[in-house]
Amino acid sequence: MDFNDTAEEAKFRAEARAFLEANCAPKSGARMQAESSEGAFMQRAKAYQKKKAEAGFAGLTWAKEHGGRGLAPIFSVIFGQEESKFDAPGAPFAIGLGMCIPTLIAFAADDQKKRYVGPALRGEEIWCQLFSEPAAGSDVAGLKTKAVRDGADWIVNGQKVWTSGAHYSDFGILLVRTNPDAEKHKGLTMFFLDMKSPGVEVRPIHQMSGGSNFNEVYFTDVRIPDAQRLGEPGQGWSVALVTLMNERLAVGGSPGPDYAEIMELARRMPGASGKGALLQDQAFRRQLADWYVSAEGYKLGRFRTMTALSKGQAPGPEASIGKILNANRLQDITNAAIEAEDHFGIICDDANAPMEGIFQQSYMWAPGLRIAGGTDEILKNIIAERVLGLPQDARADKGVAFKDLPAGR
Ligand SMILES: Cc1cc2nc3c(=O)[nH]c(=O)nc-3n(C[C@H](O)[C@H](O)[C@H](O)COP(=O)(O)OP(=O)(O)OC[C@H]3O[C@@H](n4cnc5c(N)ncnc54)[C@H](O)[C@@H]3O)c2cc1C
Repeated sequence: MDFNDTAEEAKFRAEARAFLEANCAPKSGARMQAESSEGAFMQRAKAYQKKKAEAGFAGLTWAKEHGGRGLAPIFSVIFGQEESKFDAPGAPFAIGLGMCIPTLIAFAADDQKKRYVGPALRGEEIWCQLFSEPAAGSDVAGLKTKAVRDGADWIVNGQKVWTSGAHYSDFGILLVRTNPDAEKHKGLTMFFLDMKSPGVEVRPIHQMSGGSNFNEVYFTDVRIPDAQRLGEPGQGWSVALVTLMNERLAVGGSPGPDYAEIMELARRMPGASGKGALLQDQAFRRQLADWYVSAEGYKLGRFRTMTALSKGQAPGPEASIGKILNANRLQDITNAAIEAEDHFGIICDDANAPMEGIFQQSYMWAPGLRIAGGTDEILKNIIAERVLGLPQDARADKGVAFKDLPAGR
């Protein structure tokens, strides 16, 4: 394991930092507030993405023909590490650039790549991922939204749910069932579509944070040209695996306040006895020690991934392990912080809440993080089966046509 940047990596890190210092403010709790005012936030986000693309920091690993720099994945990780220290409004593009466009690059026709990749990279067009349904999340291959061939088009009917950013997206990639007579993984097909197509209805879901970042999306006789099919009919699962593989790489970093921030809060807040700071409280110190061990363990695991990437090797299972560790630690830390803040814990306002309200927004976001990009249980199954080599779960749906499954009716 190598803890240091190579000379080339160090040079790139310095360039990334200079770009970020010139174009973003340092991170603060105020960022969370700004993101809830969507119109102004979106303008700022699009302007930032444009500058990032112009400066050559967007699509770092993509081929030059697609507007990227053709760099090794380690440079993407380094830029992400530096960007996470700033108030960089990149969230609206994460799904499009992290998952949808890589899928398009792998499966779309050349003229389609020419048309769609550049505008997405520059933040002019936003993409969303239409996979999950009310009865198909972890088991996404059990989805029911169907597409039926009609001449040069397909006609789509059904419903998606939890579609992040559908309300501001211009395009989406859509996984549907085209053959209910085949086994569930074999009857799926992937398309991309214009989110303004007639028959597409986006209904925002109201979240406990006060925001509405994800949506229900209904399809009523929506026509999609066959030319917008990604991969062969019935091969949608293989196409979706390309998207999901990119999702696992994208999700995983520590997305909110961590050990250092809760330590700082514990210095500032009084302990339960009323004598001295919370930091002197023995029970709280034991928790702090656990979080420290978890955070350091993750950091060292991350060095292992970085060393592998730096040598041009594929990363190991750390992405799944890191996501479970980070999402659970974030939830534990924010729960403890809200409790420690006592009646200030209910103030979700960066001007009045302790430490600019960094714990309040994360408190409401942490449960979702344990679900998005694979739930804790699904990731544990992956680690058990693919890392530890334990036997697979029993599968009752193998060799059975989708329409004959209880869920398929
Ligand atoms: C913040 C956020 C953003 C999202 N954005 C998108 C998006 O943009 N596009 C999109 O398509 N989807 C999106 N999703 C949906 C997400 O992919 C699903 O919520 C996730 O896959 C879980 O599916 P589910 O909610 O249907 O839960 P279910 O799959 O119904 O799971 C319910 C519970 O059962 C457990 N469980 C399920 N199967 C197993 C098993 N085999 N073994 C053990 N336990 C099991 C789960 O761990 C969970 O605890 C988003 C979700 C969140 C939280």
